[in-house]
Amino acid sequence: MFNKGIKLNETRFCFFIENLFSPNIISGFSKSSLPGELPGDFNKLISYIGKKNSFSYMDQKHSAGLALAQKPGLYDADGLFTKDKNHFLVVKTADCLPLLLANGDGLAGVIHMGWRSAKKGILKNISFDLTDFKVVAGLGLRSCCYQVGAEFREFSELSSYLRTTPKGVFFEPVRFARDKLIAQGLKKDNFFDLSLCSYCSGGDFFSYRRDKTSKRNLSFIGLR
Ligand SMILES: [Zn+2]
Repeated sequence: MFNKGIKLNETRFCFFIENLFSPNIISGFSKSSLPGELPGDFNKLISYIGKKNSFSYMDQKHSAGLALAQKPGLYDADGLFTKDKNHFLVVKTADCLPLLLANGDGLAGVIHMGWRSAKKGILKNISFDLTDFKVVAGLGLRSCCYQVGAEFREFSELSSYLRTTPKGVFFEPVRFARDKLIAQGLKKDNFFDLSLCSYCSGGDFFSYRRDKTSKRNLSFIGLR
């Protein structure tokens, strides 16, 4: 079900990613035992990561905007970074791709990457040197289920990341993210994929396309 190299620790509300980032990074994603309501659900995650932690999240308007979170709260962005310890970043998704990023230098980030943000260039807006970063593609719609309209062939930013089959045209968000981040300096071996499709993995997760749900999966990362 998951990328074979990634160890996950399952708890009642979430999975923690155990062995991918350096030990000072805590990251993971929620299960359907949390409906994904913020800020309330963070208090349930806190029961596992410690009460002294605070968090920031985003209004996620499918923009290409990134922000540096310097105090806890809600940001007008689709990507957030922080340098602060015990300050978690949370992204809500139910098919869009969450990216979790961190380097060994005390910088962590989350990105909400749907096709609109991808097309608008959200990954190009990352101004940090990615050489020492690791990135994981989290729980989201993958090319198996990401059917899009034929008009996507006209979107030059995305057109190299479409798979055409007898059933239709499918977007490949993970390959898109990987290529774009490597082009910006990320080392090939430092891109990881949970290989977990929100629609068809059959897991304990939400998919808007499958269920038209308003509930959301939460993906999070923080420094301790
Ligand atoms: Zn799928």
